[in-house]
Amino acid sequence: MNKINYDNLFKETVKAIDGEKKKLLLHSCCAPCSTAVLERVTPYFDVTVFFFNPNITESEEYYLRLNEQKRLLKTAYGKEVKLIEGRYFSKEFFYMVEGYEKEQEGGARCTLCFENRLEETAKTAKDGGYDYFCSTLTVSPHKNADLINKIGEKIEKEYGVKWLFSDFKKEEGYKRSIEISKEYELYRQRYCGCLYSKYAHIKTEE
Ligand code: SF4
Repeated sequence: MNKINYDNLFKETVKAIDGEKKKLLLHSCCAPCSTAVLERVTPYFDVTVFFFNPNITESEEYYLRLNEQKRLLKTAYGKEVKLIEGRYFSKEFFYMVEGYEKEQEGGARCTLCFENRLEETAKTAKDGGYDYFCSTLTVSPHKNADLINKIGEKIEKEYGVKWLFSDFKKEEGYKRSIEISKEYELYRQRYCGCLYSKYAHIKTEE
């Protein structure tokens, strides 16, 4: 079966937009991933970043990433891009992934984690009258764009807000995220977010 090119779907969507910018609620996992994505979406959308990441299970790490997100938006975009902070209870994540703790990164635990974050984004987008919702997650070479887009598509049908298809690692998106992160001296974490991904990272370093 031919793989869907989600970057082409993104390009087709933005090409069809004429007149006023559409309202986009962009779920962001962290400031570094959002850099290259914001560069691609802000020409076409009135963007609000939604920081909802109960998967960052250590609060110190969570607030570090959140504050870097705030700093990036303020420095690079002023008032152009707004920020909504989602609720933060890491317990929500631990309850959700009970029984999946030993999964490898990219497995069933991550699917639940993506669904949770994208569903909350769609709910918030619906309540706020946004035209589209989307996520920065696909910019990472470690994240499965096919899976993330399929989850987004499924949630679109449940909530009635359009999912913006994308694969932001294309067009050298990941490389660009590193370049812009260096430019703004952003903190770049070395593991995904949950304690399990942190332990897995520590093990690879041993
Ligand atoms: S590894 Fe990342 S995507 Fe997977 S469950 Fe942990 S925080 Fe979520």
